[in-house]
Amino acid sequence: APNSWEARAEAHSLYGFTDLPSVRERGTVVITHGEGPYIVDTNGKRYLDANSGLWNMVAGFDHKGLAEAAKAQYDRFPGYHAFFGRMSDQTVALSEKLIEVSPYPRGKVFYTNSGSEANDTMVKMLWFMNRAEDRPQATKILTRWNGYHGVTAISASMTGKPYNSVFGLPLPGFLHLTCPHYWRFGHEGETEAQFTARLAAELEEVIAREGADTIAGFFAEPVMGAGGVIPPSAGYFQAIQPILRKHNIPLIADEVICGFGRTGNVWGSQTYDFVPDAIISSKALTAGYFPMGAVILGPEMTDRLQAAIDPIEEFPHGFTASGHPVGCAVALKAIDVVLNEGLLDMVRAGAPRMETGLREIAKHPNIGELRGIGYMWALEAVQDRATKTPFAGNLSVSERIANTCTDHGLICRPLGQGIVLCPAFTLTDAQMDEMFAKLDAALKQVFADLA
Ligand code: PLP
Repeated sequence: APNSWEARAEAHSLYGFTDLPSVRERGTVVITHGEGPYIVDTNGKRYLDANSGLWNMVAGFDHKGLAEAAKAQYDRFPGYHAFFGRMSDQTVALSEKLIEVSPYPRGKVFYTNSGSEANDTMVKMLWFMNRAEDRPQATKILTRWNGYHGVTAISASMTGKPYNSVFGLPLPGFLHLTCPHYWRFGHEGETEAQFTARLAAELEEVIAREGADTIAGFFAEPVMGAGGVIPPSAGYFQAIQPILRKHNIPLIADEVICGFGRTGNVWGSQTYDFVPDAIISSKALTAGYFPMGAVILGPEMTDRLQAAIDPIEEFPHGFTASGHPVGCAVALKAIDVVLNEGLLDMVRAGAPRMETGLREIAKHPNIGELRGIGYMWALEAVQDRATKTPFAGNLSVSERIANTCTDHGLICRPLGQGIVLCPAFTLTDAQMDEMFAKLDAALKQVFADLA
């Protein structure tokens, strides 16, 4: 209908990463509100959002405490910056809290509005430090294929996806290494340990080829998220961190998805047993109730930044809403909710149940791999399990499965040929069972249609 919400959405509203023809065919879903982990559209249809928004709505869509924390801060002091030696008391308190929950005995925090901006900020900090240290050539940034770091010019350059070529990205000096996905990229007859060793050798080669003194940093998600939920191969970070250390290349953990509980610990780097030189955080930092990102610098990065600032007396960077008092108040509450109100415990307790349920679904012959940890999982669709041959096309099959799920009131995300499940931490057993049942039915329906 011409005056429907769907038609009105399509008339004037653009959206991120959507396949326009498929949406044109199916119509836009316009959402009015949420109930726990469910969203409700303008037609009153309820969907269990097994993606928790974009991995961020970890406390669900109607957490009263988070809304109240925002309201209380709006009443008290509704907005300010963190510039020129002024910042809100909430900003001070959040930085203390972030350092307290970080692996750093000492450190500092810089605020942004998003994960992309936090990655950009970290890269600019590295460039700034290196110039101050008389190493202006140390500009190159190492990341991995399938790594996702955002959409601004710098963070999109870090992202290891071919689609960025439509923008003429990556910028020069952004280099992508092999994705540590053993099931897909391991060679015939290669053990997982040998695969990890090959990736470590590749890193050594790239550093030797480029010159260690031209490289500013290595950024990695502990578990790749938007690349399709890819936990690192066994021993990956233990193999690469010593190489980076030997060449004085900082290791930055992009914890935008993993941070604050997704892998069953506060940090994904904790789960994979390494301490990065700095942490990039966003998403669950505010449980999605306010746009915010943060760069958390460990002691060495803190000292290098300060030493670079001292001679010129400023680090000329910041966003109008950096350290926004409402965002900081919401983040303080969100951290409290995740750590002290049992959400992290729910992930720990629910993860084995999640894995067991998905293993059952993954018995379907057209599922090649189930991978994940905590509350981030993916099922990989294959035409032939033995040869790992994917279905033709990039999305098609996974998109059909996701669309069928949507029809049945379940939101899950197609990424390549993977179907991604990353629900809210508050999911009850009954809601988890609903997710399994709807996913299983959709998979069977789509694979039966294709057979
Ligand atoms: N880094 C990672 C690991 C992400 O998953 C994302 C977003 O999904 C980003 C960075 C970018 O964050 P934002 O979309 O808030 O800019």
